[in-house]
Amino acid sequence: PTSPIADLDLPRAELSDNARIVLAKRYLRKDEKGKPVEEPEEMFWRVAYTIAQADAKYGAGEEQIRALAREFYLLMTRRLFEPNSPTLMNAGRPLGQLSACFVLPVDDALSNGQSGVYDTLRSMAMVHQSGGGTGFSFSRIRPEGDLVNSTTGVASGPISFMSLYDSSTEVVKQGGTRRGANMGILRVDHPNVEEFIDCKQDITKITNFNISVAITDAFMRAVQKGEQYDLINPRTQQVVGQKDARAIFDKIVQNAWRTGEPGVFFIDRANFYNPVPHLGSYEATNPCGEQPLLPYDVCNLGSVNIGAFVRDDVPAGEAWSDRIDWKEYRRVTRLATHFLDNVIDANQYPLPEITDLANRIRRIGLGVMGFADLLVRLGVPYNSAEGVEIGRRVMEFLDEESKRESERLAQTRGVFPEWEQSIWGPDETAARAPNGERIRPVRAMRNCNVTTVAPTGTISIFAGCSSGIEPLFAVAFMRNQAGSLMPDVNEDFTAIAHAEGWYSAELMERIAREGHIHFAEVPEHVQRAFSTAHDITPEWHVRMQAAFQEHCDSAISKTTNFPNGATVDDVRKIYELAFDLNCKGVTVYRDGSRDGQVLSTGATKT
Ligand code: UDP
Repeated sequence: PTSPIADLDLPRAELSDNARIVLAKRYLRKDEKGKPVEEPEEMFWRVAYTIAQADAKYGAGEEQIRALAREFYLLMTRRLFEPNSPTLMNAGRPLGQLSACFVLPVDDALSNGQSGVYDTLRSMAMVHQSGGGTGFSFSRIRPEGDLVNSTTGVASGPISFMSLYDSSTEVVKQGGTRRGANMGILRVDHPNVEEFIDCKQDITKITNFNISVAITDAFMRAVQKGEQYDLINPRTQQVVGQKDARAIFDKIVQNAWRTGEPGVFFIDRANFYNPVPHLGSYEATNPCGEQPLLPYDVCNLGSVNIGAFVRDDVPAGEAWSDRIDWKEYRRVTRLATHFLDNVIDANQYPLPEITDLANRIRRIGLGVMGFADLLVRLGVPYNSAEGVEIGRRVMEFLDEESKRESERLAQTRGVFPEWEQSIWGPDETAARAPNGERIRPVRAMRNCNVTTVAPTGTISIFAGCSSGIEPLFAVAFMRNQAGSLMPDVNEDFTAIAHAEGWYSAELMERIAREGHIHFAEVPEHVQRAFSTAHDITPEWHVRMQAAFQEHCDSAISKTTNFPNGATVDDVRKIYELAFDLNCKGVTVYRDGSRDGQVLSTGATKT
């Protein structure tokens, strides 16, 4: 049969063979036997057209919609921008659920018909089935051993319920295509905080959750002063005990050193920037931590492939800012913002509460991927003041251009319905900093939140770029290709090696086998520019995260990597630095600290 897009005269998607395989495995529409029944080009058109159609609601005719769909198609097929996976999988298909991130409330009741433990368990299953990830705060659950009036029994506590959610997640595989991912959060002043900090030290337990402790500013002050802090029973709101803040902080750091968990979520700081405080507070984030959300809140994400904007008509010796095609970066950012705003209208949410809030606040999360590629192409090391400055500037640009587009959309489509009282609105009661100043200037926006930096775990793979704002993980590794081991080398690296005349197949293989580039044949400036996650000290990881956070409405997905030999004290310093540099959270990983590491260098990958 001829393709449904045969007469549209669309260019072929710029995808590697490997990218086409990834798409066929995870994204393309399939028949009952699991055989793909669409080509990547058909998938991208399905998504482009479905999302462009939302413009009809604002008066666009069929011709305008087709023209916009073509622009969206080119954006995705030229790998300049990709929406989060659920949009690619579900747009224009019966499920129609397009968002990656949700937070659901968990009340201190088994069932109250809305958001009791078992009501939310059901909602979680529905979100997972549709391909979304869920975050929960278990902070409202009464502590283990507390009184249960109705049965005169004793409560089983937040961790038992988290385990229940974990088991259920295991049963409902997300959307049939990916596993359900969850975030579990507990406030540091919950009486069960120590059990929570320990609950994943057995790395075979609660594997479908990432966990983070919600840390308050009061707690951090107590840590700094070496004081006790209060534990509060959420059922009675009574102080039920005290703990030594440093001892708890030490426990968090010690466990994170050992297994990478728990992370921390600086909850007061996140709430300071909550764009709609009149609707509630943040209690939790999405599974990977980059998106704090209100109860029943949702966010659809998208990422601009920033490595694509290096001009080839400006010589390498020029200043980095002259080598970026800002005009094209602006065009892509604006169009991507329009795309994400349309996703809200095209979306079919799994619960009415979610539909309602999504339409009232219109939250979107535009971020970047390919940042390490950008630095490599500019010849600037990730672990340098200049690298961090580039991070700050490219994020500032994205954030501002996205906001301008949101304002432009608001002129014809209207501001988001909760705008008046939001931090962007003119209302006198809108959120103020402690010194009485407005938190944000008045801006007539279409969206309460525009920027978020996602991990881009899958979309960066088929876009063929580095993920999110992470440094390169490796320059090369050995790939198992149809039974034989082949070196897979970073394309920018190979290109430079050819251009500078030091390429040899033998060298590439040595690099792939040993998992580093510190060989005499590789010039010093190339060794610096291709610094990988392992060469970069934890301080630079956090400095980069903080630079991106400066101009980001939500938060940043980022893992700070430590070498295996790092000490507990090294980890503590990084947690403190992240707090001091205004990050909204921090996640660490010490090399080799968990068995079955997903990626590893100097080894093989299939
Ligand atoms: N996510 C999920 N399950 C997964 C991967 C991701 O639920 O297996 C959700 C989660 O909320 C995460 C968000 O998608 O924070 C974005 O992740 P990522 O950028 O890696 O997704 P991609 O769009 O690349 O698949």
